[in-house]
Amino acid sequence: MASVDLVIKNARLLLESGLVTGGLAVTDGQICAIASDEHLPQAEQVVDARKNIVMPGLIDGHAHIHDPKMTSHEDFTSGSRAAAAGGVTTIIDMPLVSQMDSETSLEDKKKAGNEMSIVDFSFTAGMLTEDNYSMVSTMLQKGVGAFKAFTCDPFMASTGTLVRSLSEVSEHGGMVTIHSEDQGILDEFSKEMEGEWDAPISHSLARPPLAEQIAIRQNISIAEQTGGHLHIAHVTTKNGVREIERGRLRGVTVTTEVCPHHLVFYRDDMNRLGPRSKLNPPFRTKEDRAALWSALLRGSIQMVVSDHAPCPIEKKEAGREDIRNAWSGVDGIQMILRVLLSEGINRGRLSLGRLVRVASSNPARIFGMYPRKGALRIGSDADFVIIDPHKEETITADMMFSKCGWTLYEGLRLKGAPIMTFVRGVKVFEGDVATIKPGHGKFQPMGQVNEIRSERD
Ligand SMILES: [Zn+2]
Repeated sequence: MASVDLVIKNARLLLESGLVTGGLAVTDGQICAIASDEHLPQAEQVVDARKNIVMPGLIDGHAHIHDPKMTSHEDFTSGSRAAAAGGVTTIIDMPLVSQMDSETSLEDKKKAGNEMSIVDFSFTAGMLTEDNYSMVSTMLQKGVGAFKAFTCDPFMASTGTLVRSLSEVSEHGGMVTIHSEDQGILDEFSKEMEGEWDAPISHSLARPPLAEQIAIRQNISIAEQTGGHLHIAHVTTKNGVREIERGRLRGVTVTTEVCPHHLVFYRDDMNRLGPRSKLNPPFRTKEDRAALWSALLRGSIQMVVSDHAPCPIEKKEAGREDIRNAWSGVDGIQMILRVLLSEGINRGRLSLGRLVRVASSNPARIFGMYPRKGALRIGSDADFVIIDPHKEETITADMMFSKCGWTLYEGLRLKGAPIMTFVRGVKVFEGDVATIKPGHGKFQPMGQVNEIRSERD
């Protein structure tokens, strides 16, 4: 075989079929061979993986990385470095406060990503309102196939808008991702917490599991009527998972995702963590956390996403006296893989086979990028991460690439970490440094968004 650009040898490759010993070769940014070490071609650059695990780079399907009005929180440069340091090779960015519902807003964001990001990226458009749901067909033509909507503030869409949006998606392809908490229930339970807002846990008590369950059930009923792919953003409760499982059993095209923080923390942690722990949906009970892990293992939750949305620390500290004044959102893009390895694989809550699906191949399928992304296969983009399963770390703010300078995970002892990340065959991260300048990342159009009926598809 002719000489190639890069060879990774002495690895344990995590394929969809399981772990195999050997290596892979890369030419022109794509995987051109997967073989035992002695059968790998000659290469200009050879990396000895030292028997560490090589898996497809993560696709973070829900991250608020670059909002043109909120670059004091994060931007494509800092956010994509955090991604690379967490083994994430493709970010699906989502609006935070600015609408991304027109060709101009899409082109502006694409330009920012192409200039600033070190990993590949794509977009969820939104937020869907009654004024803009007709953007669905235009955005799909431009390679954006996911649309965000809310059943609650601050971007609450009417039920009618949700019906129309899912109908549009049913007709044109793509999917609608819905933040599912019922605003009426949030309003009612918030009243009961009057006078208790100095306790951070009040934020969780004011947003009960019932609000999630009711909203999920309603959204599934809509999708059952309209057709189209419904994606439930960040499920957090046992009952929420049950509603989704029932919907799938009835044949509704509904998928969901879970965030690393809901797999690590639970409600009682909030008083210890203070206003930093404020996010939506909020932290739940230990029982809910256990239900999320088991749903992930059995395939009822199809992907793990960061919902990365940290802020400058002052915006958290503003909630010291009254939790309602704190910003909602935490860091996470650098933590997905670490949490899945340490809290999942090492504790027997997750298998390696499920890890590669929920972190890489399922999101690639859901966003219509498979098998270009999300797999170690010949012809796929050479996006992969080398993992040292024995590396022990104490998480500190210093190791974080986020602009915000703090992490919810401060002080946590974890075992298993990404040590090197490659995007289209180029090393973008090693050890604790980003190894490439901004601009390597490229916009990745979504193809036909694929539904995951079975994780074995
Ligand atoms: Zn979000």
